[in-house]
Amino acid sequence: MTTSQEKAEKDWTAVEAMQEVNEKLSSYVIALEQRNRELERLRGLGTLLQSCLTIEETHAVIARTVPKLFFTESGAVYLFSLPPQTLVPVASWGDHAAAGAVFPLPAGWALEQERSYSIDGRCFPVLCSDGNQSGQDVYFCAPMVAQSETLGLLYVKLNGNLPKQNSDNRRQVIAYKRQLAVTTAETIALFLTNIKLRENLYHQSIHDPLTGLLNRRPMYEFLEKEILRTTRKKQPLGVVMIDIDHFKTVNDTYGHGAGDAVLREFGLFSKKHIRGGDFACRYGGEEFLLVLTEASLENVKKRAEQFCKEARLLGVHYRGRLLDPITLSLGVAVYPEHGKTAQELLLAADMALYQAKADGRDRIATVRQHVIADQAQQL
Ligand code: GH3
Ligand code: MG
Ligand code: MG
Repeated sequence: MTTSQEKAEKDWTAVEAMQEVNEKLSSYVIALEQRNRELERLRGLGTLLQSCLTIEETHAVIARTVPKLFFTESGAVYLFSLPPQTLVPVASWGDHAAAGAVFPLPAGWALEQERSYSIDGRCFPVLCSDGNQSGQDVYFCAPMVAQSETLGLLYVKLNGNLPKQNSDNRRQVIAYKRQLAVTTAETIALFLTNIKLRENLYHQSIHDPLTGLLNRRPMYEFLEKEILRTTRKKQPLGVVMIDIDHFKTVNDTYGHGAGDAVLREFGLFSKKHIRGGDFACRYGGEEFLLVLTEASLENVKKRAEQFCKEARLLGVHYRGRLLDPITLSLGVAVYPEHGKTAQELLLAADMALYQAKADGRDRIATVRQHVIADQAQQL
């Protein structure tokens, strides 16, 4: 070989090497650009989840955002639903075979790291270091766990566009996708827990801890809304103010623990005796309020009578002892006859309750129209 041929060959090898380096650099730049976009989307997922007020709103955000994060892959996001214990998909994309399916889970099922689960013939492998491989497929299952509670899982299957087997590049891509899946699952879990905590706190703030019934303040707001709805639908609405008769005697005879037991049982009894759409509230002390939607005066009176009758049969046990039966006094008022606002209606029901007490207790009463007129004049 002549010197000039050797030189030309060396130059050519150098060009080839340079081209190879350039190709690698370009593919790194493309990969970096894609990672930047994915990190941007991950940040976007966090921002959107932060603005959600309810779990339902997070479902919409997850369904819109997570598929974009893994748009070259297939996958699904499942959330736990209790009861019954199931995995419910809130997002699924690509060729994920389980898209749309709801998986019932065996009782006591809990997701743990480093384990595989087979549900309904499908494998749900929990994340392992390099991604699980079955044939050409590589897939991850990242559990969404926060404060020891499993909230769901993110399933991602890397489609066939991976670098060739046993290459460093392939390992890097898999490791990166795995990290992205873990971070996405952790981000979702964090925000879901926050919203759950917020919902729990809200629930606690509007409910009485002893009876589990609504407190007076939120009841007032609900009643105002219900009156507006009722007005639009041109329907009547009833309220029943209830007071347990001689309740102080229960405390005096058996102690406050027994009094609490009666109130607790009475709360359960009230919940059982109202229809969906109605609500019961602890108005204060041993006083309660029922709001009966779309019910006429006749209907409300009938149901109040029934409530009064069945309450007499409420057998409350305390420390192995059956307490004396309770009786109730009930005041009935109906929108729009007895009041056009929540305040007027509650006042009318209170006056009726006073009437029931004055008439001898253990009964229902409806305030008379002229009493309401007198009261209105005094306001
Ligand atoms: P009346 O038939 O006139 O309504 O008589 P009453 O004894 O039911 O009414 P009174 O207003 O004299 O007494 C109500 C009692 O309810 C007094 C109060 O200690 C008791 N009470 C209020 N809240 C609770 C509670 O959360 N737990 C217990 N154990 N007692 C309560
Ligand atoms: Mg009272
Ligand atoms: Mg009382």
